[in-house]
Amino acid sequence: MLYTYIGFKQSSDFEGLMKEIYDRQMDAILFSINQYSNDILTGFTNKLDAELMSEGKDLLPLMQNYAGINGLYIANATNDTSAVFIMKSSPVTEAILKKSANLNENLKARLFRYKKANFKKLEIISISELDGHIFMAFVAEPVNGRYYYCVAAIESYKFLNMFLIPKLQQIAGEGFAISFKNINTNDVIYTTAKKENEESFVKEIWFFEDYVLDISLKGDWLDTIIITRAHFNMAILGVVILLLAFGLWLVFVNVRREVRLTQAKSDFVSNVSHEIRTPLALITMFAETLELGRAPSEAKKLEYYRIIGKETTRLRNIINKILNFSQIESSKKQYHFEAHDLNTIVGEVIDMYSFHLENNGFTYTTNLSEIKMPIMADKDAIIESLINLIENAIKYSPETKIIDLSTGKDKEYGFVEVTDHGIGISADKQSKIFDKFYRITEGDIYKVQGAGLGLSIVKHIMESHEGRVDLKSKVGKGSAFRLYFKIENQ
Ligand code: ADP
Repeated sequence: MLYTYIGFKQSSDFEGLMKEIYDRQMDAILFSINQYSNDILTGFTNKLDAELMSEGKDLLPLMQNYAGINGLYIANATNDTSAVFIMKSSPVTEAILKKSANLNENLKARLFRYKKANFKKLEIISISELDGHIFMAFVAEPVNGRYYYCVAAIESYKFLNMFLIPKLQQIAGEGFAISFKNINTNDVIYTTAKKENEESFVKEIWFFEDYVLDISLKGDWLDTIIITRAHFNMAILGVVILLLAFGLWLVFVNVRREVRLTQAKSDFVSNVSHEIRTPLALITMFAETLELGRAPSEAKKLEYYRIIGKETTRLRNIINKILNFSQIESSKKQYHFEAHDLNTIVGEVIDMYSFHLENNGFTYTTNLSEIKMPIMADKDAIIESLINLIENAIKYSPETKIIDLSTGKDKEYGFVEVTDHGIGISADKQSKIFDKFYRITEGDIYKVQGAGLGLSIVKHIMESHEGRVDLKSKVGKGSAFRLYFKIENQ
């Protein structure tokens, strides 16, 4: 978060800097255009200097070369009576030129001072009547020690059109739209390209006060570019933050899973110890009773033998389950697939378990399908899965002791279903009970012994058979576990 903030700050500082550099660049472009028109005017005065020094002093051809320079007044600095007027335009301009030439004693004095300091200054004379012209005063180079005071009448529109347009085109290139316009009439005199941006830089044109230069970017204005960039950066940062959050979430989920697994493992150890200790205690106790001849009757002896037998089976089942599980965990479990009929396997399990069920006070119903269901399976593994389901049905049906066993066909699958009418499993726990070590510890269930391995083994066996386990269950109503096997083509 801190980094994001710093990143934003830096990028906006950087963008501020960019904008400043950009503004300066715009300024520099406009400056260079102004400098150019200044150079043209200075060029004219230099050529005039050269002409004045020559013999003939024919100045009209020089003026012809400069569009817009319509009139020129030249006077001997000390004696204005020797003034010359060279005109190539209207009498109106001539009249204004005469007026402007005679009016400006202060200006004249100032220009002479500059000239004596060896600096040629060009200065605009401000007068009210202009006739579309500017009047530019300057002092020419001394000829034979004599100074000349000059005023040029320059028709702004013509001059700018002639000299500025090619320069504007050259500078504007592909990137900018540069135009110049008259600020009095707001007429755009010329533009290098259609203006695409509202935002632009505007600067006065030197000497030509009535005109301004306007420069704008073609395409996106920098602000837009900056905003687009900022949005892009924000989007990238957003994605990075999301990724980070996702990473954190993954770490959290993994850590939580690890913690749960560790907890489940320690529960498992205590559950298993408990499960082993109970039958061991019973076996030891009854074996000792028998050994010491303390059995009161033959019938009791028989009952003790039966208990010892039953507890030994229980012990063997627990140990088998743990061994199986450890083989699965270390990926050492191997299945031997052979062709079998699902109904036949289920029939065998029922035969094997009917006594056990009845012995535990259960009644059971069977509903085996008539259809043959050939499957490729490891018979021992399937029997083990079914026994796990039946054992659970017994364990988790404390009251209604009824179990239904059925087989059937569902599309290309054959299934066997073990249904009980016991305590049922709440919806939120139904997916978890297939996790290793997972046991529901709420309510009275914790009294029922178990290691939390049975269903995880069933799930593994079914996945290895390319089948699946389905569960339908309702709390207080009972559960139905269905094992699906792919039926082989006969
Ligand atoms: P356990 O050794 O605890 O029975 P399992 O993996 O066989 O381990 O079962 C996991 C959990 O699923 C059990 O602890 C029990 O809470 C629940 N469970 C399994 N079968 C049933 C069932 N038929 N009815 C209700 N709950 C069941």
